[in-house]
Amino acid sequence: MTTIAFHTLGCKVNQYETEAIYQLFRKHGYERVDFDKKADVYVINTCTVTNTGDKKSRQVIRRAIKRNPDAVIVVTGCYAQIAPGDVLDIPGVDIVVGNQGREKIVEYVEEYRRKREPINAVYNIMKTKEFEELDVPSFSDRTRASLKIQEGCNNFCTFCIIPWARGLLRSRKPENVLKQARQLVAAGYKEIVLTGIHTGGYGEDLEDYSLAKLLKELDQVEGLKRIRISSIEASQITDEILEVLKNSTSIVRHLHIPLQAGDDEVLQRMKRNYTTEEYRNKIMEIRKVLPDVAITTDVIVGFPGETEEQFLNGYRFMEELEFAEMHVFPYSKRSGTPAAKMPDQVPEEVKHERVQKLIELSNWLKMKYANKFLRQILEVIPETPYKEDPNSGLYTGYSDNYLHVAFKGTQDIVGKICKVRIDRVGLEYCHGTLVQVEEETAVS
Ligand code: SF4
Repeated sequence: MTTIAFHTLGCKVNQYETEAIYQLFRKHGYERVDFDKKADVYVINTCTVTNTGDKKSRQVIRRAIKRNPDAVIVVTGCYAQIAPGDVLDIPGVDIVVGNQGREKIVEYVEEYRRKREPINAVYNIMKTKEFEELDVPSFSDRTRASLKIQEGCNNFCTFCIIPWARGLLRSRKPENVLKQARQLVAAGYKEIVLTGIHTGGYGEDLEDYSLAKLLKELDQVEGLKRIRISSIEASQITDEILEVLKNSTSIVRHLHIPLQAGDDEVLQRMKRNYTTEEYRNKIMEIRKVLPDVAITTDVIVGFPGETEEQFLNGYRFMEELEFAEMHVFPYSKRSGTPAAKMPDQVPEEVKHERVQKLIELSNWLKMKYANKFLRQILEVIPETPYKEDPNSGLYTGYSDNYLHVAFKGTQDIVGKICKVRIDRVGLEYCHGTLVQVEEETAVS
């Protein structure tokens, strides 16, 4: 039997796609082994979001070649899409496939094994209009499933290379999204996370269809208890979306809305298409329809030209908006983007200092948000035994509003909806007491 090993760099979309690629090989009888084992085929799904992403991708490729010089080495993903020539120049790389046409990946491997000639299957992604249909019927995590609903992005923020690696926005056909959602529910999943490169842009390229309509249809899928949107831009929260959020029984009380900067001049230089005022208004509208919603965000610190005053404007804005959590990233120069050539790059030590300040703010806001739920009963789907002490009898999972909760239970509650009273809040975990197990059907 032919063995195959995978390594994924970068984001959740890449992880999803690696699973999808594995499904294609599995159907052809390939057996999956760990990446640190000797395999006949290695697939490296690369990342290019930062210059470090490229470097790490090259390191992993070399590691696979070293492990088995006779193996077929396949490189795919964003770095492969952006720099196919550089990838093929690494001695030992046999096949390079970009972010499209991966339904043919098994064919390429089999062709290579017959002919032993390198294959470059990277095409101009900017011309691609079709969504690459790749199904993932199950995941190693048995409680939450990702469902990719769109690809690409039309925004071209000045710090981001992603549109060049992923192409322009294209949405998966609604019937295919719904079909996969039903399959996932039938496989036992109670929660589906809608993912994509610019997830909230779903539907912008479809006629008479929108993200709001998709959410309404997903809300009707029988047995689907939770729908989480991995990320949505403030500008994509339309009145129709607000209406759906208000009436839905399954869309969770958690929205991830990237802010990136809390100062209007910085936002403008980033080419983000909103002002702080517009962003604030959206958050207020959301809180009107979903009062206890957890709003999480991404922030880039030390964007070129960010002054101390602009940073402090941002700090105060984030404090005022009371995010439930912030993912804070220091700005990292990505060659090929307009921001990399901007003057007034912020020194590393200044970025570091600002990052620390925002992490502290995020921790404080996180505790403040969690404290609101002290002694309340929340619905939690336990996923795994408590990692810090697997023998403690504790299980951990997320509440619908994204609190990470640990509580005493038994293996048979994994994947079921549990009512848990929150007794103690913390930065890593909130601790609680199991009150009731709602669902009797176990996830198989
Ligand atoms: S919205 Fe901006 S940051 Fe997000 S993928 Fe598109 S270009 Fe990149």
